[in-house]
Amino acid sequence: MPVPLFDPATPVRALRGALREAVDEVLDSEHYILGSRGEAFEREFADYLGVPHAAGVANGTEAITIALRALGVGPGDDVVVPSFTFWASAEAIPPTGARPVFCDVDPHTMCVTPETVKAALTPNTKAVIAVHLFGNVAPVREIAALGVPVLEDSAQSAGSTARGGGRPGGLGTIATFSFYPSKNLGAFGDGGAITTTDAELDARVRTLRFHGSEDKVTYTDVGYNSRLDELQAAILRVQLPALDGWAAHRAQVGAWYAQEGLGELVTLPRATDAADRVAWHLYVIGTEQPDALAAQLTERGIGARGYYRLPVHRQPAVECLLAGGRAAVAPAGLPGTEEAARRHLAIPISAATTREQVAEVVAAVRAGLAALG
Ligand SMILES: *Cc1c(COP(=O)(O)O)cnc(C)c1O
Repeated sequence: MPVPLFDPATPVRALRGALREAVDEVLDSEHYILGSRGEAFEREFADYLGVPHAAGVANGTEAITIALRALGVGPGDDVVVPSFTFWASAEAIPPTGARPVFCDVDPHTMCVTPETVKAALTPNTKAVIAVHLFGNVAPVREIAALGVPVLEDSAQSAGSTARGGGRPGGLGTIATFSFYPSKNLGAFGDGGAITTTDAELDARVRTLRFHGSEDKVTYTDVGYNSRLDELQAAILRVQLPALDGWAAHRAQVGAWYAQEGLGELVTLPRATDAADRVAWHLYVIGTEQPDALAAQLTERGIGARGYYRLPVHRQPAVECLLAGGRAAVAPAGLPGTEEAARRHLAIPISAATTREQVAEVVAAVRAGLAALG
């Protein structure tokens, strides 16, 4: 049987009735932007994370730009960001006027560390973006101890938990989420959120997401039109109670991969010391010929692909910024990033992956590697 790389549809199928009802209620309410459902979702999502404030925004990319602006980031400032991440983590920086400074990752956890962040700090560093990549939990508290505000890019880590308590989204100064349909908690379109423990930051976020206005009459800032609409909020409210079960299942699938002996064939992703439960968003192994193995797996009906083969600092748009001095790379270079970019390969995981599917994938990896010799 084929095993897809990811499967957001199956877990949601059980909720179809409730989802239809929720959508009908929004239609009946005739209220589509900044209404009671958005507010209710913000409260429920904040409660789930254990933070006092959550504000819905249009997507996870704008969430980062707005969160940086709320932190006061602007022209002349530097923002540290890993290069081994989804493009949007870094793309969100230049619109603030600040300069991205790329730091390295630990190739085993694929997350930033206090050491890699420290090596990228400059006198102008105004914020650090710690990405909880693939659902792993970046060591936010240790990075914050360097004395710079930490923005958690939590787009891939909804449902993970941190050692010592708390969840991604409540560990740093401010955090951002994406509800893109394939994320751990996905809307039926675009959506995002910004969470914080700081009431003043939350107020600034709310002003910025509404065109830079607090009262919709006076415009105190040049802001954004960036909201989570009522339909998406209603859809997310139906799914949120299921998130913890889905997250636990994602962690279980990771454990099954190890139990089925995958670690004897390839390098398994390693949870950070900051992680308690990793709700793997993608299950990303390391191997010497990842694209050749992916072709072998695809031939056997198993979904597999490399996501960030060309790390952000080597993308054409960033090479332009680097050439113009509008971006920088940590002076010691990015060897962990180069290694992760060269060796990584995502194999199937979802909140519906079965133990039988895991066994099938491991057997296919074994056969695929044997065929490669
Ligand atoms: C998906 C993602 C984003 C962007 O979210 P969108 O909602 O697609 O704009 C940002 N950072 C990371 C790490 C992501 O995975």
